[in-house]
Amino acid sequence: MISIVIPVKNEAESLPHLTDELFAILKTVREPYEILFVNDGSTDKTKIALESVARKNKHVRVFHFRANFGKSEALAYGFSQAKGNVVVTLDADLQDNPKEIIKLIEKLNDGYDLVVGWRKERKDSVEKKISSYLFNVGTRFLSGVPLHDYNCGLKAMTGNVAKSLNLHGELHRFIPILAAKLKYKVTELPVAHRKRKFGKSKFGLGRSWRAVIDLLTVLFLTHYEGKPAHFFGLYGFLLTSIGFVMNAYVTYIRVTTGSVGHHIPLLLAGILLMVIGVQLISVGLIAELVTSMSRKKQDYV
Ligand code: UDP
Ligand code: MG
Repeated sequence: MISIVIPVKNEAESLPHLTDELFAILKTVREPYEILFVNDGSTDKTKIALESVARKNKHVRVFHFRANFGKSEALAYGFSQAKGNVVVTLDADLQDNPKEIIKLIEKLNDGYDLVVGWRKERKDSVEKKISSYLFNVGTRFLSGVPLHDYNCGLKAMTGNVAKSLNLHGELHRFIPILAAKLKYKVTELPVAHRKRKFGKSKFGLGRSWRAVIDLLTVLFLTHYEGKPAHFFGLYGFLLTSIGFVMNAYVTYIRVTTGSVGHHIPLLLAGILLMVIGVQLISVGLIAELVTSMSRKKQDYV
């Protein structure tokens, strides 16, 4: 079964066009399918529009959030409800062409766990193109997962991937990295992109700093989750050792010459390094304690 998960916030005008396009495409597939709309606290007529689609079509399931919880939470909820062994995600604003679903699934069936859309020719504002470009270059460099467009709304994945992603906050941008770190086979496929006709984009430039912070979180979690003391411990130990050597030298001078002389700055620097080093080691141990308490039973399939 194919589950199509669509997060929706204030896209009432786009929805009728989107559903027409989707049904036209899905008529051509032989597998059973379902379409899951997650209404992420829309304040326009989205709710009414979705209810009316759901009434007319038995393949459609609709979920309404009490308030706006964000695209990541909407996707996470859709994934938790999806019954398919293939899960496809799609934006509701018509920027993603539903026709591409077929190609993505074909590629998935070539033996991949996640196929990520690559908007080779983006139809967005210049600021958005530039910020996305920087985000993608930075993410590629830091994560080592070789893709061009990490945050494309169009993706196809196996049910296992959908169920094992633990999305929250704004982590939807990093789905390919989360999947790659769980050792799933990830690839990309160029897809068409269209201009937004109705409504407004919900992710403006003013929020892009969050992506940078999130990237650090994701890299930290995926590299060191389960063993944060290794990360903090290494740097803490290094700083403490350097500080110790500096102070040992000052002590040696004091003992042999009877005065520390002009070595006060060295003494202070040594003390500072040792204090910071011990703090880092302690933070690592506390982080270790926290992860050991919150560790989930299973992170693997
Ligand atoms: N969206 C959502 N919750 C939010 C913000 C966005 O469900 O808090 C949905 C939105 O309705 C759309 C998709 O996520 O279907 C992508 O949003 P948008 O088109 O605004 O992002 P952009 O394409 O401008 O990056
Ligand atoms: Mg969009």
